[in-house]
Amino acid sequence: MKNLGKNLLGAFTLLVVVAFIFSLFVNFGSSSPKNLDISQVAADVAAGTVKNITVNGNDLSLTLADGTQAVSHKESDASLTDTLKNYGVTPVELSKVDVTVQSQSGFDYWMGILLPTLVSVILMVLIFWWFFRQARMGANQAMSFGKINIRLFSANRDKVTFKDVAGLKESKEELEEVVDFLRHSKKFIDIGARIPRGVLLMGPPGTGKTLLARAVAGESGVPFFHLSASEFVEMFVGVGASRVRDLFATAKKAAPSIIFIDEIDAVGRERGAGLGGGHDEREQTLNQILVEMDGFDRDTNVIVMAATNRPDILDPALLRPGRFDRRVVLDIPDIKDREEILKIHAKGKPLDKTVDLRTVAVRTPGFSGADLANLMNEAAILAARNNRKTVTHEDLLDSIEKVMLGPARKSRVISDKEKKVTAYHEAGHALVAASLKDADPVHKVSIISRGMAGGYTLKLPIEERHLRTRSEFLADLAVSFGGYAAESAVFKDVSTGSSNDIKEATDLARRMVTQYGMSDRLGTRTFGKNDEMIFLGRELTAEKDYSEAIGTEIDEEINRIIKRTFDFAKKAVTAHRDILDKIAEALIKKETLEQEEFAALIKGSGLKSSTV
Ligand code: ATP
Repeated sequence: MKNLGKNLLGAFTLLVVVAFIFSLFVNFGSSSPKNLDISQVAADVAAGTVKNITVNGNDLSLTLADGTQAVSHKESDASLTDTLKNYGVTPVELSKVDVTVQSQSGFDYWMGILLPTLVSVILMVLIFWWFFRQARMGANQAMSFGKINIRLFSANRDKVTFKDVAGLKESKEELEEVVDFLRHSKKFIDIGARIPRGVLLMGPPGTGKTLLARAVAGESGVPFFHLSASEFVEMFVGVGASRVRDLFATAKKAAPSIIFIDEIDAVGRERGAGLGGGHDEREQTLNQILVEMDGFDRDTNVIVMAATNRPDILDPALLRPGRFDRRVVLDIPDIKDREEILKIHAKGKPLDKTVDLRTVAVRTPGFSGADLANLMNEAAILAARNNRKTVTHEDLLDSIEKVMLGPARKSRVISDKEKKVTAYHEAGHALVAASLKDADPVHKVSIISRGMAGGYTLKLPIEERHLRTRSEFLADLAVSFGGYAAESAVFKDVSTGSSNDIKEATDLARRMVTQYGMSDRLGTRTFGKNDEMIFLGRELTAEKDYSEAIGTEIDEEINRIIKRTFDFAKKAVTAHRDILDKIAEALIKKETLEQEEFAALIKGSGLKSSTV
């Protein structure tokens, strides 16, 4: 479209230029003599005031008796004498005028004939040329359909090294070996070692897989071809495979080099696991990747790196030795790594003296590297919006909640009644959390709406944990029901504010029974096969591998767990109604209670640490 516009503009400009030149020629030589009509000429001839007439085709140039010049035109199929006779000029009167007939020639004459033809021919040629060009471009596009649009990271521009990746010590060690292969491949080949072909980076979203792959490229200084697996897949069968061939051919030409395929699960899903056909294209693409990885010569120095969040759904053939045999796991960062990541992203952002990145790291368990980078950025934006030159500790703490729950919606108008309901709801969560030994300590309670939540109670674990226990889950469930229990105890009514709590609690109770073997009655087995099948973007329900009777038992167990934890929450809020009121009142007054304020409120209230 852009080209079409450009061409049209070009053609238009050309037309204007041609018309301009043409008009120059047409007016050429006309020193504006008087223009007479033929009847006037006849009258003048009759009156004897015309000295001579020069006839050139149909054009007449006249010289009058007083010496002035004039021009006129006659009809094309009649001679001048006939015309004048018809106007009543007698032969005697005519004989007094000197008539000269000129043969038609000269520049003007030829230009007059040729120019219109020339202009139209030129225009035709231009239009044809333009059409051919378009057609040729289309043909080229069709030919390059199977070509892949790979991005080549230049090692010098935006160079990333291992220093820019915080934490991930083991992953970096593993990849340092890869860098060594790329840099000093000869020493490995000489000793008969086979250079690894594929490195699979696995880990939750935002843990730095792409960053680490770029760091490998930066460290080894070789060309780095980067693309996302979804770029292989087109509407047409066979295009993906052709693009894979093209990609590997390009990388081999540039060897030693790295190919990085992001989100490999887009094409690398286990074959034959698709729903009702239609997966030919993806499977062909995957086959081609397998073939290409096999096809490397022993000493072809191309390493394929790939990233995925879902290694469990990859085709086993991709993972066998000789393909992606090196697997590097990237985990959600622990507290030390979080601090490091924060430090890296604090570069270039002047921090206030009050900032303590360790505290920020403590408050952000479960945050990925990308979340932390985002947090730092949000804090900087907050500082800039408040016209400050440095980022303060407060900015960082505020941003934690913003990243977790969405921006605060302080301006949302809520009625006093709603405010009271929200305050009791959050007070219920906080109170139940405070009365449980296995619940995480409350860090903050707030009734300021954030994102979708009306209010929130922030609980954070004391230390990093990788395993969760049944007692912790039961405590979590009881805390979830705290809001609902408080609302029903105080108002004898419940609001829609608990819907999300209930949904999450039910999910957790189901997982406890069906996946974690945490039900005494049903024992240590899983229920339902969770083979991932994504259909139209939604996960289809797990396959049922148990009887109807067991299904009923599962439901009963889920209900039992929910009832048990809900009863605990109900008991806690009714037994400590006075503390509940105190917390809710404080919330209505202050809107947000920090950890210390909350601790001061419940101190000496006789709240015991118990278990569900
Ligand atoms: P996805 O699976 O969603 O593609 P990813 O694992 O590839 O995610 P990256 O794109 O590598 O994640 O990371 C996103 C951003 O997070 C990086 O650009 C970087 O700013 C930050 N980040 C993640 N991990 C780290 C880390 N260990 N050190 C420094 N920055 C990190």
